[in-house]
Amino acid sequence: MNDASPLPAPPPAISARGLQKTYAATKKAPAKEALKGIDLDVPQGSIFGLLGPNGAGKSTFINILAGLVNKTGGTVNVWGFDIDANPRDARAAIGVVPQEINMDVFFTPKEALEIQAGLYGVPKGERRTVEILTALGLADKADAYVRMLSGGMKRRLLVAKAMVHSPPILILDEPTAGVDIELRKQLWDYVLGLNAKGVTIVLTTHYLEEAQELCDRIAIIDKGEVVACEPTEKLIGSLDMKTLLVTPLEPVSAAPALDPYAAELRKDGRLAIPYRPSKAQVADILERLSAAGMKVKDLSTVEADLEDVFLELTYRRG
Ligand code: ADP
Ligand code: MG
Repeated sequence: MNDASPLPAPPPAISARGLQKTYAATKKAPAKEALKGIDLDVPQGSIFGLLGPNGAGKSTFINILAGLVNKTGGTVNVWGFDIDANPRDARAAIGVVPQEINMDVFFTPKEALEIQAGLYGVPKGERRTVEILTALGLADKADAYVRMLSGGMKRRLLVAKAMVHSPPILILDEPTAGVDIELRKQLWDYVLGLNAKGVTIVLTTHYLEEAQELCDRIAIIDKGEVVACEPTEKLIGSLDMKTLLVTPLEPVSAAPALDPYAAELRKDGRLAIPYRPSKAQVADILERLSAAGMKVKDLSTVEADLEDVFLELTYRRG
């Protein structure tokens, strides 16, 4: 066929509508509205970042997907299965790496994977225990007791357990909290490899740099509400904020007045001048520098980063 009409976009891997969760009151704590009716779509094949301050509701969202927490309102579809109507199919479509490391320490990694595969009904002939352990750098620990593993190894074993049934969606809740840089890299290599094979990845992380580097789409959640959900580039571009960095020809002891711009003198002797690209021209700033009697040796501009977006969207909401 030579029909040039575009293919319809595939349905989202995960779709939530009006999703609510209120944890019931206990003797110790009043009721807590953790999710206030959120709408979220995770596109198939994406690496989707779910960011937000502590207590925002990220784990609650993930635990609802995993079937560990019951929602109190709204609907969720996972891989086309409604979690109420088809909970088993929905659960089979995802592998979840939980935030907390809680594992049975009396089994070896190999046994732990075999048990997990059994729980998901993976036939013996189709299990990939050794392959998965190898991919996560745990092959030489296959027969060690889990309690003998380091924290980073346990974390990787959780990822391995989440993948035994080859789910099309892998969800990682703060997978690199407390994991050293080397292991983090190893983990991301594996996750990126899965994504290249078509696995949809959802992750929450506190490391904004990590999210900015890895995720093609990012949702920011705050106090149980989604405050942004955009392709990463667009999210960062939307901030309309850049910083001009100026190296003065002669060292200065104080930042000049550049009204309406606010220059700040950095420890390295450079001036940092934030501006809004949609409203200000670098040339205008330079003119004001010149009027203030400053000669410029060198200059560069710095884009806003995810941290700026994050601060702007969350902390400013009070
Ligand atoms: P995040 O993962 O973004 O840090 P959580 O989803 O863990 O956030 O928590 C969201 C809110 O719900 C927080 O205020 C938290 O204290 C509350 N919460 C989480 N789990 C429970 C629970 N089992 N019972 C009562 N409140 C809870
Ligand atoms: Mg959490």
